[in-house]
Amino acid sequence: MQPTGAKLRSGDLIRRKAVDDFVHKTVKRQGTCAYDSAVIAGNGIGALAFAGRLAQSPMFEGKVTVVAPAAIESRRLINGVTLRGAAVDFMTAALDTTVDRVLEVVSGSSDNPPVAYRQAAAMALRTPSSWRFSRRGQWQDGLADGRAIVYGVRNSRVVAGMRELAAKLPIEFVDERVESAQHLRSFARGRSPLLVNGTTMPNLLGGQAKPPSRMVLGVQVPFIAPEGGVLYPLESQTAFAPAVRRSGAIDVGYFTPFRDPLSPRSSWYGIYARVVDRKVAFNREAEWRLMTEQLFGVGAAMHLVPDDPEETLGRALVPASAWGRIPPSAPGTLDLKRHYSGGAPVFYADGMVMGLVGGVVGADAVINGVNPDDAIRAALRPWRRHNLLWYFECNKIPFLAEMLLRASVPAAMSYPHTAGKKLWASAT
Ligand SMILES: Cc1cc2nc3c(=O)[nH]c(=O)nc-3n(C[C@H](O)[C@H](O)[C@H](O)COP(=O)(O)OP(=O)(O)OC[C@H]3O[C@@H](n4cnc5c(N)ncnc54)[C@H](O)[C@@H]3O)c2cc1C
Repeated sequence: MQPTGAKLRSGDLIRRKAVDDFVHKTVKRQGTCAYDSAVIAGNGIGALAFAGRLAQSPMFEGKVTVVAPAAIESRRLINGVTLRGAAVDFMTAALDTTVDRVLEVVSGSSDNPPVAYRQAAAMALRTPSSWRFSRRGQWQDGLADGRAIVYGVRNSRVVAGMRELAAKLPIEFVDERVESAQHLRSFARGRSPLLVNGTTMPNLLGGQAKPPSRMVLGVQVPFIAPEGGVLYPLESQTAFAPAVRRSGAIDVGYFTPFRDPLSPRSSWYGIYARVVDRKVAFNREAEWRLMTEQLFGVGAAMHLVPDDPEETLGRALVPASAWGRIPPSAPGTLDLKRHYSGGAPVFYADGMVMGLVGGVVGADAVINGVNPDDAIRAALRPWRRHNLLWYFECNKIPFLAEMLLRASVPAAMSYPHTAGKKLWASAT
């Protein structure tokens, strides 16, 4: 599964080995693969990770088809921006490439990447005219061992970049919107295809989906930093989470180094996100307005200026799925996207890493004749648990979470958060 393995340099070799070890721990058994081809609806991050990893197997060479409308790029920050270090490890394995190459395509260059090696947090507190911060504390440090915690990159560039990197793999791309399972099957390159759903339509292949009971609201924008560099509480190469408690929950704020070839003046980006109960009435426009003011206000308190917000500001209201049981895929199909959408990926920066881990593990399970549902579910369990813990702290015990964060960030973010570093950081 490593055509370029011999050509990888030491850092990339360590990352590749870490991914392979993780996959082998999850996909232990060996069975007989039931499929001679795969046809995948959707060309998002998870779909491309699955397609890329599968296409590297000689069994599936030239038998993998991706069917989806071509990705459209714009400056607007529509989906996730915080790409975890571990996610990049899995992306390189999925597309058989190197970290430098990934950084070149997703951020424009592999030099001085938009990376954070540490994470810090504080409470952001509103004052009559501005914002102030409680004492900042650090909760993850990868600097000592050079492990990247996160990169800040625009999602539509990541998707388009993955598609560019996938072009060298034996995958057929069809630029069409899939209407049904039968329609998807018509593109298969074999007689026994696996049909894979990597789209935002949970019922595309006939699977059942319950309406979500929670939604996530989010606003995000790229920021221009002061010429002389960022000022406290921001710090270079350090992601900063200024939490805000309001209306019975915590709005998760997150600011990280960022680079986007379409917004060259921006070197940081920021987001506020909040989980809301669907049964409780809320005014979407009013919430977005308030959260945007909060984002710009907290940014201004750190001397950051939004970069062309009329073109770049992203506002989202997306479903948060249940954290628990994931219904099995119908025979002959894999409902891939459902696996990595568990919980509220928007507000814990884990949607992309889950898509990449799910895609890679799912492909290896299929190749080895193992039920991909079981393998992906097991592989993603730690990410789902941490997402649930984050939700619990922000939405169920926000007062206590604030008190702890104000008293001591390292204490508030101690175990199990500390144990979660491996779910964020790159292997080297
Ligand atoms: C505001 C916001 C902030 C977020 N922040 C973060 C973050 O910081 N870090 C993080 O990791 N995650 C974050 N997330 C989550 C993350 O963006 C998603 O989990 C991830 O991008 C989804 O990956 P995907 O590419 O598989 O899915 P999508 O991007 O949803 O891709 C689905 C694909 O399916 C295609 N499609 C749809 N219908 C059809 C059809 N009928 N036929 C064929 N193709 C079809 C679409 O064209 C699309 O390409 C955030 C999300 C939001 C909304």
